[in-house]
Amino acid sequence: MPELPEVETTRRGIEPLICGKTIASIILRTEKLRWPLDPRLTEILPGRQIQALVRRAKYLLLNCDSGSLILHLGMSGNLRVVPAETAIGKHDHVDLVFTDGNCLRFNDPRKFGALLWTDHDPLTHPLLAGLGPEPLAEELTGEFLHQQARARKIAVKPFIMDQKLVVGVGNIYACEALFRAGIRPDLAAGKVSQKRYSRLAEEIRQVLTEAIAAGGTTINDFRQNDGRPGYFKQQLQVYGRAGEPCRVCGTDILCQRLGQRSTFICPKCQR
Ligand SMILES: [Zn+2]
Repeated sequence: MPELPEVETTRRGIEPLICGKTIASIILRTEKLRWPLDPRLTEILPGRQIQALVRRAKYLLLNCDSGSLILHLGMSGNLRVVPAETAIGKHDHVDLVFTDGNCLRFNDPRKFGALLWTDHDPLTHPLLAGLGPEPLAEELTGEFLHQQARARKIAVKPFIMDQKLVVGVGNIYACEALFRAGIRPDLAAGKVSQKRYSRLAEEIRQVLTEAIAAGGTTINDFRQNDGRPGYFKQQLQVYGRAGEPCRVCGTDILCQRLGQRSTFICPKCQR
């Protein structure tokens, strides 16, 4: 699944290719992704100019001169900018065609992506309004996490993965950040000290920043904007390494289920 670093990498790759471009048309080759596609998009979009491509959590916001297109890559979506006449591949569901002859092509094998129009500020849209702060923003501090965790019995890992608390900390990054911070994922959120949360906030920021720099971790069916397959794999410390030795202490990495998610732990480094 595209995680926040992949979405941010996509945004950075595509932004210079579509900003300032005027939409000529939209071609919808399916009626439904995660939700039905609004057929009125074919009337709403032509003539509008893309002013900015913004990311909020894992949503991409194509802000036009008025209104915004809200896009989500879902489980398997990817975006490319190609000449509009480029032959259509399997699962190429939507083309946003620009007057310069190129198009933004949305490919989504599993059709869990989203494409929605809003005339209003997209940040107030029901899908986005209740989201927590961005993990790379200054608001994410140990003090903030500690305060939000007060008296909470939920384990610290699902706590930091809650999008209402902070967005974009997917399973891989939660496992990695908790390992680096030396915190057991199953510890009650309310039992973690502010000092340890400060370290965790720092590690969350660090692990995501590194992933963005590396172009996101490798995932299935995701392609670079220029069509190159795959992203560079980030050096992962624990995720996906069950039974392999911890890179710090040599103890075997364990995999446990926690909140229905595979959770990778070094039983010695994390307490
Ligand atoms: Zn270890």
